[in-house]
Amino acid sequence: MVDLTSNAHRSETASLIQAAPRRLSEQLLRNIPIFTSVPDSAISKLAASLEPHFAPAGAIVFSQGDAGDSLFIIERGEVVIKLPDDEGGETVLARMGPGEFFGELALLDGQPRSATAEADSDAQLLKLSRGQFLDVLRQPQVLESVLVVLSQRIRAADTLVSVTGIDNRKLREEARTDALTKLGNRRRLREDLETLNARALRYGYTYALAMCDIDFFKRYNDRYGHTAGDEVLRQVSATLAAECRSGDAVYRYGGEEFVIVMPQQTIQGASIGLERIRSAVENLVLEHADSEIGVVTISGGIAALDMATTDELQAPLNEADKALYEAKRSGRNRVHVYAAAGAA
Ligand code: GH3
Ligand code: MG
Ligand code: MG
Repeated sequence: MVDLTSNAHRSETASLIQAAPRRLSEQLLRNIPIFTSVPDSAISKLAASLEPHFAPAGAIVFSQGDAGDSLFIIERGEVVIKLPDDEGGETVLARMGPGEFFGELALLDGQPRSATAEADSDAQLLKLSRGQFLDVLRQPQVLESVLVVLSQRIRAADTLVSVTGIDNRKLREEARTDALTKLGNRRRLREDLETLNARALRYGYTYALAMCDIDFFKRYNDRYGHTAGDEVLRQVSATLAAECRSGDAVYRYGGEEFVIVMPQQTIQGASIGLERIRSAVENLVLEHADSEIGVVTISGGIAALDMATTDELQAPLNEADKALYEAKRSGRNRVHVYAAAGAA
């Protein structure tokens, strides 16, 4: 690639221009949309002072970050405007053809080039200095055409920004959602707990937290297969989500483990809620011949953040896990509430 703006390639540029000798005609300028209504006298003056530039296919006309105070009009050929990204790739912002201009940003605001311009095919360009451009902008018709083009470019850039914003939001959402169950994942749980813990510290708000686990799920997979197991995970997830109160949130914590966070809920209230949820799962009557009850069930452990007794923000997760262990140990398909001296 040839960089036409760097000193190292100046002589190469000169020889390229000679390689394509041409005379600027006034008619040629007339064919460029922004100049169509400029008076003859101004066109003659401009034609006499414009500098022609030949950029062979692949030549860099200017690079992002270059200093630059000139504008280019494409007479023939195509130029792409692109942004290099951090990973060595690039985003093509625009592809321009005959009659279009580029390079106006750096020329107008005096900042370095905001993007890279590369000839996509052999391109014949006309180069205008800042002074020439400002001079020709004094023509009201030119000013109007240039403003129209600039507003179209701003609109296109706004669209790009909003599309990128939507993409980013989607990616962010996906990174916090479990693909199989569509529940929030462990990452989302961690973030939501950070928020709740910050509120707890600041305003004394409490929350209850339930840890649930499907009973004998390994046996289920072993008998019915992994695909059927996945379907059970989906159905149990949907039931947890449907049965919890608005304001509560359900997360897939791991394989067949779920966490339900219940803001502003007492441990007693959470216990009643989780018992309702446990019973709803049992009432799905999903056959499980290798479970003692014959259907898919869950066990649950409950704890609550109590700022009066602990400042350990991890406590509810650990305590709900201990209570869950007790629920499993004492027979499964039941709910246990954490008690400081061991699960009750
Ligand atoms: P317990 O009642 O003590 O909880 O017994 P369990 O068999 O449910 O518990 P264990 O931890 O022994 O086994 C959990 C099983 O969950 C093992 C694993 O294959 C299964 N599992 C974890 N993630 C998935 C998944 O995404 N899909 C399916 N189908 N199975 C999963
Ligand atoms: Mg488990
Ligand atoms: Mg289990």
